[in-house]
Amino acid sequence: MGGGGKKKMNMRGVYEAEEIERVVIKRIIKTLYDLQDIRLRLELRTKVTKYTLCPNNHLIPLKKEWERRPPERITCPLCGAEAKIVSVESPKIIQESLQLIEEKEKEIRRRLAQFVKDQILYREYLSKIRGVGEVVSAFLITYLDPSRFDKVSGMWKYCGLHVVNGKAPRRIAGQKTDFNPFARVMMWRLGEAFRMQGRSYRYIYELSLQESQEKHPDWSMAHHINHARRVTVKLFLSHFYEVSRALLGLPRRIPYPLIQNR
Ligand SMILES: [Zn+2]
Repeated sequence: MGGGGKKKMNMRGVYEAEEIERVVIKRIIKTLYDLQDIRLRLELRTKVTKYTLCPNNHLIPLKKEWERRPPERITCPLCGAEAKIVSVESPKIIQESLQLIEEKEKEIRRRLAQFVKDQILYREYLSKIRGVGEVVSAFLITYLDPSRFDKVSGMWKYCGLHVVNGKAPRRIAGQKTDFNPFARVMMWRLGEAFRMQGRSYRYIYELSLQESQEKHPDWSMAHHINHARRVTVKLFLSHFYEVSRALLGLPRRIPYPLIQNR
């Protein structure tokens, strides 16, 4: 490919091409998670291979505790009749579908890795943060383009990290949400990544967890974890907002949590 045509492209053309690429990347990210959902379901389906079968033709997945150590007398969980254990081989078509999905997932990951490598936000910043991988980086760069948000609070709200009547917003069936549900799931995933493999953000998570436990002794552990994860991700987003705007040469504002903490 010669670069002649590209060189003649004016700045407006460059912006348009970038915008189109972003739309494409957004669709690809969503597709990756859709494929992941299907893969997990197929994996579960291929795992069920042993059943009990009774004279009344009740074919029931084998009890977990029987898998390793079947009792002397096997009975049907449904009718109690004497039963035997039978194996059902996972159909080839499911195995093949699984394989196809795995290949496509890998391909998509490569495509996203290729996209982020060309992005200054990834090269100079996101690639250096433990817990933020290539896929999440692609998400941040496209869905959370910092030039689109006046303030970090807008970004929080878009991700459903804001507070409504002192609580996290809920999705109510039949009502339009004022945040992007996909973005909220992505923030949950990012929070989990920080919790499991983060370095500085894991430290922030642990501090938030401790603080939450001291402040709200009546909360359940799940509630504490949820809260600490949110606090961590919100703080990360305020850093992301600040650093990205600086890297992109956008006007800077000092984010609220930074003022508060110093
Ligand atoms: Zn039976």
